[in-house]
Amino acid sequence: MSQKLYQNVIDHINDKIASEEYKTGDFIPSESQLSRLLNVSIGTVRKGIDKLEYNHILSRHHGKGTCVKSNTPIVKNDFRNERVDLAAAFRWAARLNMHEAVANHFSLAINESGSQFLLNPIGMHFSEICASDLLVIDANDKETMSQPNAPDPTAWAIHSALHRNNPQARCILHVHPKYATILSSLDDKEMKPIDQNTMRFYERVSIDKEFSGMGLGKEAERLSTLLGENPVLLMGNHGVLTAAKTVASAFDELYYFERSCQTLIGAYQTGKKLHLASHKVAKKTAQQWQDYDASTIHFDALKRILDKEEPDYKN
Ligand SMILES: [Zn+2]
Repeated sequence: MSQKLYQNVIDHINDKIASEEYKTGDFIPSESQLSRLLNVSIGTVRKGIDKLEYNHILSRHHGKGTCVKSNTPIVKNDFRNERVDLAAAFRWAARLNMHEAVANHFSLAINESGSQFLLNPIGMHFSEICASDLLVIDANDKETMSQPNAPDPTAWAIHSALHRNNPQARCILHVHPKYATILSSLDDKEMKPIDQNTMRFYERVSIDKEFSGMGLGKEAERLSTLLGENPVLLMGNHGVLTAAKTVASAFDELYYFERSCQTLIGAYQTGKKLHLASHKVAKKTAQQWQDYDASTIHFDALKRILDKEEPDYKN
C-alpha cells in the first residue's frame, strides 16, 4: 500500500475537521463510503483511520462507526517541525547503519512535561519513516498498547519511563550501533579520553552495568533513573541512548559517541597501551565541545541532503 494513498484519507478527514464540517462527537462516513468517495480500497481507508485514531483524532465505536474525538486535526501539520526533524534523524541513522532491523526507537517530547511524545511505529524500517508516520504517544494512557497501531512494547516502556522521569530530555535516541554496543559489552565500559572526540564525552556518560533482560516493566523504570543530566546512557550489554533538548543535539551526541567508540575499540584492538589525556585536558576539551556547539549546523546539513535525495521523509 503506498504511503500516498492512506495519506489522502488522512488529509481528507483532517480537512473536514479543520473546516468544521466534521465536529467533535460527529460520526464520519463509513469505511465503505470513504472508500468509494476517495477511490481507494477499504484497507487503505482503515490504515488512514488507524493513524487518526492513534493520534487521538478519531475514535471507533463498535457497531456504531467512527466519530471525531478531537476537533484539532493533526498528523500532517501539527508538530510539523518536530516530525520532520525526527524523521530526518531516522533516515540519517539508517544511512549510518546505526539501526538494527526494525527494533530501535527514537522519541521527541511534544508537551511541557514530556508525557506526550512522538515515536516510530512498530515494524517500519528507519529508512522508510516519514514525518506523518510518527505516532503521538501519551505515557499516561494505559490503553496505549491495546489500541490499533500500538508501538513496540519495549519502545513504549523505555521511552515512557524516560520521558516521565527526565523532562529535560526532550529527544531520546536509542540504537544498538556496532561500536557503542561493543563498548557496552566490555567489563570496563568507560569512554577513555584518547582523542578529541572521545574527550567530548569525558565525565558525560552514564553507564548501566546491570542489564537484566529486555527493556520492559521494572527494567525500563530502572533505566530511566540512570541518565541524570548526562547526554549519553551506555546501556550495559545492550546499546546506547542519547538524550538532549533538540533532535539536532541528541543526534550530534549519538553521531560523535559512535565515532568515539569506533576509535576506542580500534585502539584496544591494536593491543598497544592507550595514551590517556590528563583529567585537566580531558575536562577542558569536553567543555570546549559544549562551548562550540555545532549540532544545529550539522543537522541542517543532513536535512539539506535529505531534501535533495529523499525528500519524502517530510511527507
Ligand atoms: Zn535496545
